[in-house]
Amino acid sequence: MATVLKRGNITVHTENIFPIIKKSIYSDHEIFLRELISNAVDAISKLKMAVYGSGQSIDLGEPEIQISIDKEKKQLSITDNGIGMTAEEIEKYINQVAFSSAEEFVEKFKDSKEQIIGHFGLGFYSSFMVATTVEIDTLSYQEGAEAVHWRCEGSTEFELDTSERRDRGTTVTLTLMDEEADYLEEFRIRNIVKKYCDFMPYPITLNGERINQEKAPWKESASNLTKDDYLEFYRYLYPFQEDPLLWIHLNTDYPFVVNGILYFPKLKPDVDVTKGQIKLFCNQVFVSDNCEEVIPKFLLPLRGVIDSTDIPLNVSRSYLQGDRTVRKIADYIAKKVAGQLKDLYRSDRKEYIRCWQDLGTFVKFGSLNDDKFKKQVEDILIFRTTADLASASEASDAVAVEVQTEDGDAWESPTESQSPQDENGYYYTTLKEYLERNESHHKDRVFYCTDPAAQATYVELHKSQGLEVLFLDSFIDTHFISFLEREYTDVKFSRVDAEIDDALVDKDKKDTEIVDPTTNKTRSEQIKELFEAALENPRVNIKVEALKGDDPASAPPAMVLLPESMRRLQDMTALFENKMATFPDDHILLVNSAHPLVENLLKMNQGSIITEGGDSPSAVLSKSLCNHIYDLALIAQRGFDANSMKSFVSRSNQVLTRLTER
Ligand code: ADP
Repeated sequence: MATVLKRGNITVHTENIFPIIKKSIYSDHEIFLRELISNAVDAISKLKMAVYGSGQSIDLGEPEIQISIDKEKKQLSITDNGIGMTAEEIEKYINQVAFSSAEEFVEKFKDSKEQIIGHFGLGFYSSFMVATTVEIDTLSYQEGAEAVHWRCEGSTEFELDTSERRDRGTTVTLTLMDEEADYLEEFRIRNIVKKYCDFMPYPITLNGERINQEKAPWKESASNLTKDDYLEFYRYLYPFQEDPLLWIHLNTDYPFVVNGILYFPKLKPDVDVTKGQIKLFCNQVFVSDNCEEVIPKFLLPLRGVIDSTDIPLNVSRSYLQGDRTVRKIADYIAKKVAGQLKDLYRSDRKEYIRCWQDLGTFVKFGSLNDDKFKKQVEDILIFRTTADLASASEASDAVAVEVQTEDGDAWESPTESQSPQDENGYYYTTLKEYLERNESHHKDRVFYCTDPAAQATYVELHKSQGLEVLFLDSFIDTHFISFLEREYTDVKFSRVDAEIDDALVDKDKKDTEIVDPTTNKTRSEQIKELFEAALENPRVNIKVEALKGDDPASAPPAMVLLPESMRRLQDMTALFENKMATFPDDHILLVNSAHPLVENLLKMNQGSIITEGGDSPSAVLSKSLCNHIYDLALIAQRGFDANSMKSFVSRSNQVLTRLTER
């Protein structure tokens, strides 16, 4: 027979907070279970500490948290074999402390419209969101302790009496409200435990079956984990996803506590990079599916877990963003990420290059968004290049020196101490190396290509003249080029099809000689006129240059050029109007006077056409050929629309027919 030890009021407060707990604060009633299980975990940990501290020899048994369901009685109970409580402790920790902290919490947030980040704060009393009656049955670990039973029916009154309990620990039993009866369903409990308590450090069982993971890999030391452990954890967190590229284990105790594992996923075009997918934990208790407020924006595409007891959780999300500790944690994470990338760059360049396609997007996005990060990664920001760096690497091997970085660790200078190629045989370079390497040929000038297929002719032409071209062809590069220009104000960036560099033009050719004494026209003027008359399109500006090449036929007979500033304006307009950039009507047709085809055309005109007249078959053919040359240049630039394609095909057929006539 239980003896009533005490009947009383929970505290002296006038306002009854229970109706508020029941109604408002959380839409997510399910968190009561997280709170109760967290208390059970704490109770077990406290017991360990207490026994360890006192030197007592108490059999701790196997730590366990049992959940059981009694559908008939509508009861859900959580039992732990932790430290337990004496009657005095119930008075102190439940009646007074727990209630007053719950009250304080309710007071603070009852009118708040904002979502509270962690939903922490109500603790034990959150059980009244779902229960009509809450009971505690507990036996303290202390020698000679008496078991006690506490009961409260959701009013400020409670009852405390003795209990028959024999086992050390605590059972909290909730008699659920009718409308909360779904917490009597096993699957519901399983889901909640999996969501919030999966990585809590002790076994949680439901009807005898273990339902949590228990191990939180991020709390382990990195040296205890294998590559497979990391991959397995990733697959567990993000099932059915491609394996990540690499990961970072965060582990610091000072000046704040942060543990975590962050993964770099392969970036898919359909991934929403503005949505965070890093899970936030507090002491192994799940808090939130994303921690967008805690990590720097540019790292949002990362995945994994961050666990910190220093992130305030009883606050609104908007407050969190401004919190100083949170800002410092964000900086720490960014610095760690940069550090890890630098490590990889110097220790395994091949792997770095393999991952660059995806890593590069992070690094560029980060550089665009965060000045500090930019400084950390600028030496490891690389570009695919047309240059053959195999020989360069041997030369620079000798000069690789140890330098001290800002954060104190020594590492090899970023000159190519090893210069691996990617799977397509391309080498990679930093911009600094590019500028140094090319200083004597084209000082402060960078040639780049944004579309290797469309700009292939131009890239080839540059390559054949020994001009190095960088590929800036990922989706972020459009923005990145402008960024680079702001960073390197002395450097001129030109796309390979923007204008023809002097190095590509053969100034010795005799284009300026007057070839027609009757009209006083130079050779290049004649070619220009020939094309103007054939194309009959004033928006195409015709320029004549002799392009260099070992063999005059190696450079194309003509190329379409899109002057840098004009093309960018076009790109910007398209961006604003949210359209694909169309091919600009105004462009330059550069005719290569050194090409034999152009030479032949000129000869044809100087000879037969003049004697035979403008409508002669030769004149018609010559006109067709000019258009044909122009079309080929457009194709190389992907500048065809449907109409141009139609007339190209029909003209090609005419030309071929004409050429086969005898
Ligand atoms: P918090 O856990 O944040 O301290 P709670 O309101 O959840 O707040 O709990 C108040 C106190 O009640 C705890 O600090 C602890 O001393 C005691 N307590 C709650 N649950 C248990 C339990 N299962 N075993 C032992 N003590 C408990």
